[in-house]
Amino acid sequence: MKAIQIRATGGPEMLELAELPIPQPGPGQVLLRIEAIGVNFIEAYFRRGQYKATLPMTPGSEAAGVIEELGPGVSGFAVGEAVVSVSVMGSYAEYALVPAAQLVKVPEALSPEQAASVMLQGMTAHYLAHSTWPLKAGETALIHAGAGGTGLLLTQMAVRIGARVITTVSTAEKAAVSREAGASEVILYTEKDFVEELKRITGGRGVDVVYDSVGKTTFEGSLNCLRPRGMLALFGGSSGAVPPFDLIQLSTKGSLFLTRPTLWHYIATCEELEWRAGDVLKWAANGELKVRMEHLYSLEDAPKAHADMESRKTTGKILLEP
Ligand code: NDP
Repeated sequence: MKAIQIRATGGPEMLELAELPIPQPGPGQVLLRIEAIGVNFIEAYFRRGQYKATLPMTPGSEAAGVIEELGPGVSGFAVGEAVVSVSVMGSYAEYALVPAAQLVKVPEALSPEQAASVMLQGMTAHYLAHSTWPLKAGETALIHAGAGGTGLLLTQMAVRIGARVITTVSTAEKAAVSREAGASEVILYTEKDFVEELKRITGGRGVDVVYDSVGKTTFEGSLNCLRPRGMLALFGGSSGAVPPFDLIQLSTKGSLFLTRPTLWHYIATCEELEWRAGDVLKWAANGELKVRMEHLYSLEDAPKAHADMESRKTTGKILLEP
């Protein structure tokens, strides 16, 4: 089968096309024939060596496709069923293994591309808006990178709850995309000081919660955008890692809450996975959640997909097709 392999860490060119044997499902696993692969920022962290992995590795954890084979002891699934998962063991490939406990059935109304577009970023948006800081109607949230894959889904979920959403983006084109998703105010953080703008928009009050996936370049400012006892949910570092931080700042800036959450701890049980995946797939199927997926690349073009993602050229979801 065709698969992408990383043999050494580095730039997007380290994503090399390889010919590998189709893996055999072990106990509790299924073999997935992949139809659409979700590209996520975390794969760039592994490729660059920021996150450690044993090499060579096939990157990727998100894919939708059809069950090709069931491993020993798997029940509740059948060969030929359409499924999606964020726990695929190397999804940049034509086939991959998935623990059956992490597999979710795809509603008939959704294509594999739609399912792979919405699963990981959708469940991330879900836990941020419903669990990390359970947003309430009337609250105000600041969402950085509002036109990104996660940003667009999080904006829609926050608006669905009845919250007011302010976003940051880098270009006027992205601002239009973010507004379309429901942001009531969009700040061009590449042109203006987003803290000053945010204070102006909120009449000096600040926001209840900041969802920050940008990290290094926004972290300090994000803390300055919060109202007393508000929360900064730092869930990524697209611009780089946040340097060491003196906790006393949380006190002086208004008894703030700071958390660094990750999806895996919010889908650790079957119940939580079913709740979040169920909501996200249902909302995508009935049109409540609009999914943008205009960035489709073939598997061998994975280096271009990463280069575009890291140079801020994309809006919404990036997919590879085997
Ligand atoms: P996006 O589609 O949001 O892409 C990243 C965006 O970040 C860019 O489009 C860009 O938007 C913005 N950005 C700001 N500064 C930079 C920079 N220096 N280099 C590149 N991009 C920059 O990606 P995802 O939705 O896939 O992921 C967003 C973040 O969320 C990532 O950091 C990812 O790791 C994290 N994440 C965390 C999860 C968790 O559970 N903790 C789960 C899923 C994702 P703009 O041009 O508008 O500035």
